Amino acid sequence: MLAFQGAERALRTWEPTAAHLNRSVGGSRFVLVPLDLDAMSRAVAGREVDFVITNPGNYIALESGFGATRLVTVESERSGSPIAAIGSTVVARGDRPDLDTLAGLKGRRLAVVSTEAFGGYQVLWRELAALGLDPSDDLREIRQTGFPMERVAQLVRDGLVDAGVLRACLLEEMIAEGALAPGELRVVGRRDEPKLPCAVSSRLYPDWPFAKLAETSHDLAKQVAAALLSMPAVDGQAWTAPQDYTQVHALMQDLEIGPYAHLRQHLNLAELARRHWQWLVIAAMAVLWWVVHVARVEVLVRRRTAELEREIAERERAENDAARHRAERDQFSRLGILGEMASNIAHELNQPLAAIMNYARGMSRMLDGGQADPAMLADGAQAVATQAERAAAIIQRIRGFVRRRKPRRERLDINEVVAETLALFESLAGRRGIAVHVHLAEGLPGVSVDRGEIQQVLLNILQNAVDATAGQGAEAGDGITVRTSPGEGGVKVAVRDCGAGLSQEAEARLFEPFFTTKPEGLGLGLSICRTIIEAHGGRLWASANPRRGLTLRFVIPPAEAPA
Ligand code: ADP
Repeated sequence: MLAFQGAERALRTWEPTAAHLNRSVGGSRFVLVPLDLDAMSRAVAGREVDFVITNPGNYIALESGFGATRLVTVESERSGSPIAAIGSTVVARGDRPDLDTLAGLKGRRLAVVSTEAFGGYQVLWRELAALGLDPSDDLREIRQTGFPMERVAQLVRDGLVDAGVLRACLLEEMIAEGALAPGELRVVGRRDEPKLPCAVSSRLYPDWPFAKLAETSHDLAKQVAAALLSMPAVDGQAWTAPQDYTQVHALMQDLEIGPYAHLRQHLNLAELARRHWQWLVIAAMAVLWWVVHVARVEVLVRRRTAELEREIAERERAENDAARHRAERDQFSRLGILGEMASNIAHELNQPLAAIMNYARGMSRMLDGGQADPAMLADGAQAVATQAERAAAIIQRIRGFVRRRKPRRERLDINEVVAETLALFESLAGRRGIAVHVHLAEGLPGVSVDRGEIQQVLLNILQNAVDATAGQGAEAGDGITVRTSPGEGGVKVAVRDCGAGLSQEAEARLFEPFFTTKPEGLGLGLSICRTIIEAHGGRLWASANPRRGLTLRFVIPPAEAPA
């Protein structure tokens, strides 16, 4: 049996029951083993005992832990009914009328016999919990006095605590014994419980059970139950039918103790924080570090982005400048070529102008001589108009070439571009006594080019060829040959001359800007030509002829097939 007040007192209480069993149940000997709560668990687990007499709380634990089954319940004269026998009474000093309700215990010092006690603590704990109070948080202090429980009453009386918890009826018993004067202590949170003849502050629970354990023989248990039910009362205490202990289950469930302690596993956050505050601090520092780090990275990224944007803007500006310079240089070069061709142009224009003059003079003579044949005059006027158109066409071509404009790609036949360019050029070569031979291949793929730029390239190369050929005398008799042919998937244009050819230095530096061997030369022509051809996705190169002179070639890839 549970000896919560010491072995001696327990033996005294239960001796009559043991004696009765030894008398009534033949073939078995009954020995009382007084145990505290821990020893009780060990003894039951080790099957050292067959029956237990214990308080309702401990019984519930044994029932769920070890299959204990109640046979009978104590019936005591002191507490009216075995189903409503155990309760808690909270007492305060009689001169403390301010402490009247259980809610008023908040922030007070409370004396209890032990926090393990059922009637002495857990029963009241459930009432406090129902009011939303957690004794370990909301009371200023819980002082455990140990048995006997009368000590709780003494601490309250002496003012060492504000209130104390007694099992129901102990207050009345102490007054009856003269240990307390009536009115010396008053009941806090008194409830009306008609089944119990004592003042009480809690709900009531069934009295102690007598239980068999799982392995105890069923027959023996039956004999024991029968013997106990027929036991006459000793000191107002006997055994009656087993009571319903569901309310005790409910208590343990509410408080998450005993068999329901596992419910407590869901530790509340505050508890967790209290236990693991070091980790929380570390985690908080880590989060803080991370926030600072992210903020820093953000700032760095912004700064770098701004730098990059500035750099990009600068590069765009530089590119725009470069494009402008390129355009200016191209224009400059076109004007250069024009300058070089100026005499050629003058010569070309001279022819239609001279013809116009001749026609005009002839017509005027006809009129003067009075033999104005209208048909002949009309022919003459027609011829003048034709020559004037020819002059206009020459000027038109030159203006078209010189005019500055945006490059515009169109799908063209390279032979057409070559023929057009030669029309601008041929008479110049002719006047210098240099023959120009043309071989245009049939069926070349179309190319996507800027007409003016390709003309510029060709004129440059032709002009260089004329410069190199002029003054070479009879040796240059073969003149200049312009040839188109299929090449490298696209078209190839070759300009071959029989001129002076290149020195070694000139060969290495031919395409360098400002490399020139001519007194009036700029040295920009070929470098610009290469830029233009490469912009068309092609290639421009020079190679010495086997016999004499130089050949310049460029290839242009074919235009993509029209969609
Ligand atoms: P420029 O004609 O103003 O000198 P280019 O870049 O067109 O500038 O030519 C650079 C140099 O390359 C010329 O001065 C000349 O020495 C040389 N060169 C170009 N074409 C030929 C050629 N067909 N034969 C010999 N030398 C050439």
